[in-house]
Amino acid sequence: MNDNPFSAPSASSTGGPIATSSSAYSEGDLLVTELTAELPLVCAKCGTHDDVQHVRLKAQWVPMWVRLSILASPLVMLILWLIFRKRCDVQVGLCGNHRSTRMIGLGVGYGGLALGLVLMLGGVFVVDVIGEGALLAALLGFVVLIGAIIALAYLAMPLRLKKIADERVYFAGAHAGLHDAVG
Ligand SMILES: [Zn+2]
Repeated sequence: MNDNPFSAPSASSTGGPIATSSSAYSEGDLLVTELTAELPLVCAKCGTHDDVQHVRLKAQWVPMWVRLSILASPLVMLILWLIFRKRCDVQVGLCGNHRSTRMIGLGVGYGGLALGLVLMLGGVFVVDVIGEGALLAALLGFVVLIGAIIALAYLAMPLRLKKIADERVYFAGAHAGLHDAVG
């Protein structure tokens, strides 16, 4: 008769403390991690803690002078890239919305890469036979390729890889909430 229907449930609805990667930290606007790391479950894009899951950011990085060597020869750049590349494998938190954006970026990006390559190579190889239409296709393919790379870089990547140096990875574009979580 005297049961109190308003008694508080014993289990608290809020989660425990945010798990932080032991070694991640902020350095100005940049987020610094080890080569292999797991960031706290905070969305890297909007800073929310709700519905956040890790996505894997596996990437390679080479210094600018290695990239510029493509001007000398693509083969030279490929060789230098393989020698000087540094790799990271970092688990980054993203909320449901930003995981969706990332999936769209991956779809548009890889779809665009495939379409762009087909148009470009197809156009270049048939240009002698078919003429200007093929050249136009090749140019369109090039534009589609650039668009695909931008989609991959800005929609699909949870963080922007700035550089890898001294066994540390430097990311740009992390939300302030993530900076706060790593401390
Ligand atoms: Zn988000």
